[in-house]
Amino acid sequence: MTDTASDFGYAHRHLLGIEGVKAEEISFLLDLSDGYVELNRGESKKSSLLRGRTIINLFFENSTRTRTSFELAGKRLGGDVINMSVAASSIKKGETLIDTAMTLNAMHPDVLVVRHPESGAVELLSEKVNCAVINAGDGSHEHPTQALLDAVTIRRRRGRLAGLRVAICGDITHSRVARSNIHLLKTMGAELRVIAPPTLLPAAISEMGVEVFFDMRRGLEDCDIVMMLRLQTERMQGSFVPSTREYFHFFGLDRDKLQAAKPDALVMHPGPMNRGVEIDSDLADDLHRSVIREQVEMGVAVRMACLDALTHGLRGNNRPPLETAAVRD
Ligand code: ASP
Repeated sequence: MTDTASDFGYAHRHLLGIEGVKAEEISFLLDLSDGYVELNRGESKKSSLLRGRTIINLFFENSTRTRTSFELAGKRLGGDVINMSVAASSIKKGETLIDTAMTLNAMHPDVLVVRHPESGAVELLSEKVNCAVINAGDGSHEHPTQALLDAVTIRRRRGRLAGLRVAICGDITHSRVARSNIHLLKTMGAELRVIAPPTLLPAAISEMGVEVFFDMRRGLEDCDIVMMLRLQTERMQGSFVPSTREYFHFFGLDRDKLQAAKPDALVMHPGPMNRGVEIDSDLADDLHRSVIREQVEMGVAVRMACLDALTHGLRGNNRPPLETAAVRD
């Protein structure tokens, strides 16, 4: 991660991952996001902060919510947003990636938001361009804005992150969401558990400072937050689970297994959900337990905060003050 001299709370040129981002920088981005949640809930959602700036969403992998929410975020800040989807089949490994990066760079964008199926591809691209780069998910490596929006959701509901017991459950091996969340929540002082079948746990997981469980009820005991992950079959080569039915039986979240967690434990999922595979459909829609829709709402605010933070250097000190007083639910 390249540092730039900045008096702003996030002092990096890019946002490529959560690993290596300091606790105070994370808090800064969460506070900034809180301010944007209020803007988004108001009547006029428009700001002129990014007027004259160009944001390119460059997606080499499918996305619905992440791409839409980056697009909305850029537009609500008054920027010009262009979406480019590159079909996975047309990717000729690094060559096309770098060619595309150089072509876009020549058009002088201010921010490139990039999603790519290969871990490390976004960082590689960031080394070739002059503008700020945001990683919108690279392979099974990182998805930093997802972890930030999860953290905003939790912090607004619980008032803190430190000391909370969080269980991340399911397909850890293929999940960039799990990795970014582990880095963020550990940095902010939460207690982390992962619950998965051994086939869906990476070998190096214990080096990440998490407690490992192979049984849902034991792992969920007294948890404040239950974060479910999608079974990412598109990243699997071969069979990792006997059948989706059996997977649901042992590792799918339903009301029965959830009883092991704290009575007010929050249920989360980054989406898209495989209903009836990793999560019971009714539970996912139960607004008393599930904050899945709120996560989507927070996504727009977090992406506005990230665009704001990464373009701060371009504005000098001409930034209108933003109301960042946290209003918690
Ligand atoms: N939307 C998230 C991601 O892009 C989670 C998922 O796809 O399961 O990683």
